[in-house]
Amino acid sequence: MIAVLIAFVILSIITIVIYFNMNSNSLKELLNNEKLNNVCKDLSFNSIICNEIMNDMKIEDVKVEVNADKKSDMSYYSSITNKIYLCDKEEANKSFARVLFISHECAHAKQNKTFLNWSLTISTINIVFTIFILLIMFLNLLSENVYLYILAISLLLNMFAYFARNIIESDASYTAISIARKYLQKHIPIEYLEEIMDEYSRIISFGFSTFQLKLIKNNLICIFVLIFYMMIKMF
Ligand SMILES: [Zn+2]
Repeated sequence: MIAVLIAFVILSIITIVIYFNMNSNSLKELLNNEKLNNVCKDLSFNSIICNEIMNDMKIEDVKVEVNADKKSDMSYYSSITNKIYLCDKEEANKSFARVLFISHECAHAKQNKTFLNWSLTISTINIVFTIFILLIMFLNLLSENVYLYILAISLLLNMFAYFARNIIESDASYTAISIARKYLQKHIPIEYLEEIMDEYSRIISFGFSTFQLKLIKNNLICIFVLIFYMMIKMF
């Protein structure tokens, strides 16, 4: 039974990795749109766009900072510091997609803080639980008949973490489209608006499925490590 479960998890991870690579290549192609990059080349710097959008959305208590990790391509909103951290790389200030990405972070900034913090707490508990269980298994402090209960708790925690994150990201992704439209209407030649919005919808659907796969893959790896370790301990 456990061998079948392990085989299922391994096959799922392999399938996800293959599909993930396929998707991220298509996403790169979508983002490399010279024509639209040119249309958007005169837009302000990312931090200015972000502040303008937040003013428009009447978000007053959120600060904007540059992501301190200069190598990172990530922009993100932290509900703990209540700040948006923007990627400041040269390419990140040139892409036509940046208004969409900034709008996505502004959408996060407007979300319910209690729910954001709850989601973060569940993910943290999940990680701490996995490390803790691996440690006590390693030290042989558990009897074998509790392994299945641990696996069930781990599956539940992973599922909760996945659903909470999914709700947060899908809400931010789809809200970002209307936020970006509102901003672009005032800042680019109107004849390009629909073309950009079409590309934004494609980026959202590619980006979101890539994100979901990444989340499922991480959860599967976490479960796989636990099952694999249980197998070593039991046989
Ligand atoms: Zn997000």
